[in-house]
Amino acid sequence: MPKHIAVITSGGDVPGLNACIRAIVHAAQHEGVAVSGVRHGYDGLMRGEIMPLNTDSVHDIMQRGGTILHSARSKRFETAEGREAAAKALKKTTIDSLIVIGGDGSLTGAGLFAAEHALSIIGIPKTIDNDVTGTDTCIGYDTAVNTAMQALDRIRDTADSHERMFVIEVMGRDSGYIAYAAGLAGAADGILIPETTTDWNSLTSVLKERHAGRRGSLLIVVAEGDESGGAQKLGDRLCREFPDEKIGVCVLGHTQRGGAPTAADRILASRFGVAAVDALIAGKTNLMAGVDGGKLVFTPLSEIRRRHLELTAERQRLLTVLL
Ligand code: ATP
Repeated sequence: MPKHIAVITSGGDVPGLNACIRAIVHAAQHEGVAVSGVRHGYDGLMRGEIMPLNTDSVHDIMQRGGTILHSARSKRFETAEGREAAAKALKKTTIDSLIVIGGDGSLTGAGLFAAEHALSIIGIPKTIDNDVTGTDTCIGYDTAVNTAMQALDRIRDTADSHERMFVIEVMGRDSGYIAYAAGLAGAADGILIPETTTDWNSLTSVLKERHAGRRGSLLIVVAEGDESGGAQKLGDRLCREFPDEKIGVCVLGHTQRGGAPTAADRILASRFGVAAVDALIAGKTNLMAGVDGGKLVFTPLSEIRRRHLELTAERQRLLTVLL
């Protein structure tokens, strides 16, 4: 039975981190376990930046984006020496268990840390890119997709009025999850993702056909890591295909990381937070919480990898019919 749990947010921030911290604090306090927050991710852990948390300190954070604990990346923690420093800092406290909310990098680090220093650690997946194995979805992904979709809707209004073509870049250096989902939900005319190579001739012939039919606006969604080089380069290339058109380019960038989390993300974060505390109380360790078909599941941290959007037959069918 843990006596003192600490929670860390590590890697890029996402909407829903605060909802998860809140759930962890409530669950720990409900079970009579002390709970603290580590500020500034692994970097802060090595420096012993630890603050006590209670239900009062998390009473109005459910709806807030970002993380009250702040987040960071730390090269030093990637070394055995850095993790040794973090373990030493922990030994100076009464903390006996950790909950790490992070992406595949942070969770890999958590697995190494737990194994090297015999620590009890439960991981929780968060990333707007949704590119972590062991779970259908991660905290932050749903909000980011909704933010991108709303941006597409807004651009659609102005693009439609002037019958213009727009290229919209969404986040995803290696992952097409946001582009695929936001593009589908925003009724895009083209979706370009890093996982596939775009057939340029077929894309431009579809766009030319629609353009000639004066169908109104044309929206193309591109993930930042797509082989086209992103929105600006793609826009330039399309300008050469459509010399008479003024093609708009919009990079959504960090707007996708901020804002109030959706209900789906708040509930997912709350489920993961409570499940992580329950798991520690049940004596489980070195696992990541996830969902599989709606059910809570746990996967060993050592098995967590980065994943890519798989263009299943159903996903491909939707692209074929709806784009
Ligand atoms: P996201 O990619 O969504 O921002 P992430 O957790 O994958 O989240 P990373 O930058 O990959 O983000 O990792 C965050 C931190 O986790 C790193 O700065 C480092 O301290 C630690 N970390 C990452 N990979 C490893 C690793 N292989 N071994 C040990 N620690 C790692």
